[in-house]
This record gives sequence, structure tokens and C-alpha cells, in this order.
Amino acid sequence: MGETIFSKIIRKEIPADIVYEGDTVLAFRDINPQAPVHVLIIPKITDIETAKDINPAEHGQLLADMFEAANKIAKDLGVSESGYRLVINSGRDAGQEVYHLHMHLLGGRKLNWPPG
Ligand code: C5P
Repeated sequence: MGETIFSKIIRKEIPADIVYEGDTVLAFRDINPQAPVHVLIIPKITDIETAKDINPAEHGQLLADMFEAANKIAKDLGVSESGYRLVINSGRDAGQEVYHLHMHLLGGRKLNWPPG
């Protein structure tokens, strides 16, 4: 269950521009960047397809790991002070394309609100 293109990236079967790797979390630059900094932060486990599958009791530490990674990546890539956006597209109306939980980290330019 949960096999997607991101599973292949986790297993290093296809290339990705990895900016962070920990025991539970991997982060790499989006292949189709929407901002000068556009990174996807993903859990290494494959059974969380979308945000509604998050069980805080079970996944609390993993979520903390994802936010810890986001903080570090934002610092490393120089957007921590200027600001950045963390986005999780969940389901059809949000335009989710890959059903492996992922958090977008976008920054390096002024971001519009509301998003489209
Ligand atoms: O949130 P959503 O599911 O729409 O985003 C999926 C993202 O994964 C897209 O921004 C797409 O560019 C990215 N992607 C990627 N590398 C791939 C396949 C998709 O960075 N091999």
C-alpha cells in the first residue's frame, strides 16, 4: 500500500535533489518549482496518503520531525528570516497529485494570498 513516485525517491531508485534526510523524514526540491525555494518534506513511511490519514496519537513524533526539518531547511536555504509558506494539499479540490503525505516549503519571493 502507498506506493507512489515518492517511494522510489525514498529508495533512491530515481534521482531527486535532496536537501535534508533524517531517520523519518526526507526533503527534496520540487521538480516543478513555484518559487525560488520550493522543497517537499515527506515522511519516509508510505502509509499516510493525505492529511486526513494523520493520526496524532500515532504520528505526533513524525509531525514534529517534519516541522523540525522545515525549520532547518528554511534556515539552510536562507528564507527563515524573510518568511516562507508551508502547504499541505489534501485531496481533489486542493489539487493533490501525489498521494504520499508531503508538505511544500515555498519561499524566496513574496507569496500571494489567498492562493488560487
Ligand atoms: O501537493 P501536490 O500533490 O499537488 O504536489 C505534488 C508535487 O510533487 C508537485 O509540486 C510536483 O511538481 C512534485 N513532484 C516532484 N517530483 C516528482 C513528482 C512530483 O517534485 N518526481
